[in-house]
Amino acid sequence: MRYLVILPLLYIATFCNGQSTSDEKSMIIGSVDNHEKALINLSDRVWALAETAFEESHSSKLLSDYAEAQGFSLELGVGDMPTAFIATYGSGKPVIGVLGEFDALPGLSQKAHPEKLPLESGKAGHGCGHNLLGAGGLGAAIAIKELMEQGKIKGTVKFFGTPAEEKYFGKLYFAREGYFDELDVCLDWHPSASTKSEVQSSLALVDFIVEFNGQAAHAALDPWNGRSATDAMELYAHGINAYREHIRPSVRIHYHMQQAGDVVNVVGDYAKIWVRVRDSNRKGMMPVYEHVQRMAEGAAIMANVDYKISLVSGLHEVLVNRAGGTAMQKNLELLGDLSYTTEEIAFGKRIQEVSGKPQIGMDGTIKPLEATRKHPGGASSDVGDVSWVVPQIRLGVTTAPVDTPWHSWAVVACGGMSIGHKGMLYAAKALALTMYDLYEDPDLLREVQKEFKEKSGDYVYKPMLPEGPPPIPSSDNE
Ligand SMILES: [Zn+2]
Repeated sequence: MRYLVILPLLYIATFCNGQSTSDEKSMIIGSVDNHEKALINLSDRVWALAETAFEESHSSKLLSDYAEAQGFSLELGVGDMPTAFIATYGSGKPVIGVLGEFDALPGLSQKAHPEKLPLESGKAGHGCGHNLLGAGGLGAAIAIKELMEQGKIKGTVKFFGTPAEEKYFGKLYFAREGYFDELDVCLDWHPSASTKSEVQSSLALVDFIVEFNGQAAHAALDPWNGRSATDAMELYAHGINAYREHIRPSVRIHYHMQQAGDVVNVVGDYAKIWVRVRDSNRKGMMPVYEHVQRMAEGAAIMANVDYKISLVSGLHEVLVNRAGGTAMQKNLELLGDLSYTTEEIAFGKRIQEVSGKPQIGMDGTIKPLEATRKHPGGASSDVGDVSWVVPQIRLGVTTAPVDTPWHSWAVVACGGMSIGHKGMLYAAKALALTMYDLYEDPDLLREVQKEFKEKSGDYVYKPMLPEGPPPIPSSDNE
């Protein structure tokens, strides 16, 4: 009992920047600290499992089981995705969501060690820190649930277990089935090399596959009877590369040649190429997408073969919400900078040393709220789609040393030890503190929603997806 009385006082005393705070905010910090061991354990187990897109069955179960044990009700297998789930607590308005990912990347297996050293050679690893992402988001939802239990706030909290961010964009299937529609606002965080309220957008993208079908023939005996799908794919790729000189600098085009015949002495009758077009927004991307599709016909004509184009999926750019970003910023300033032990700094510097980077360790200082850039650069995320359905408030927290490569062994290494854990716990606190503000301050929630309505205008969101179920890998392939 005495423990409960003393704890909030301790937390107030630990706040930086001379800011004082409410008992409720102290309770949020206390909740995350109380769950520290369990959240680290969840994160570390997901880290060690390192399950990839739509195959995260154990990781998904670990997170959903913990949510259920905390009193959340579960919806499993959401949107025809066996590893997707929603954990809900409370009732009525406002309804606030928090996103959690947990998929790993192929080939990045790594020990929690500051030099490249696979845990299991050739296996997957958490090179984007999604083990931290999922556990941190759940930690925030639990802190809010505990305030609700104690009658401090009213409403509903939903944790979205969203699989396959790295490959198939699981959130698109949640959005297609309307699972985000009832939310008033949604939050997420992402592991990073810096700590800031994230008010930059992301790139829109579209993925599609072009297949060429020709006629097989003996490559030496009767090549005149053959029509080469491989030729078509080469001509197509050449066309894309010539086109690069005439596109805006914000556009990116990538391709992965997936198949081009089978053997050297047969004219290849089948070729397959995966193409990705990106730009700062859909408006810039769509004309490039249209043109790169038309080019497939040109290549097919030149090689005298047939072609077929199939949409895989596409992502919206993030619709930035600055009112929400400002609320998040205040809570970062309340929490203060992250700090590191001598051992952690040495770990970070060793990673930088072996990566050929300046040895400066981690940057845990809170960055000032940035102006939102017209061209965000960087990557894409399926959070972009959520942000066109409901106002989205975003956060990046330091979980790796400055300037080391992302999607690499270095991120895996830090995500399995205290540098990553520290960032995850910090993120859980910052998310829950901002969620608390949104439950407690109807004016703030209205301001966030007003900005969303003004920016999205009359745009009716529709995910870029083909008809049919998500591409769940069957157990006998991949
Ligand atoms: Zn990621």
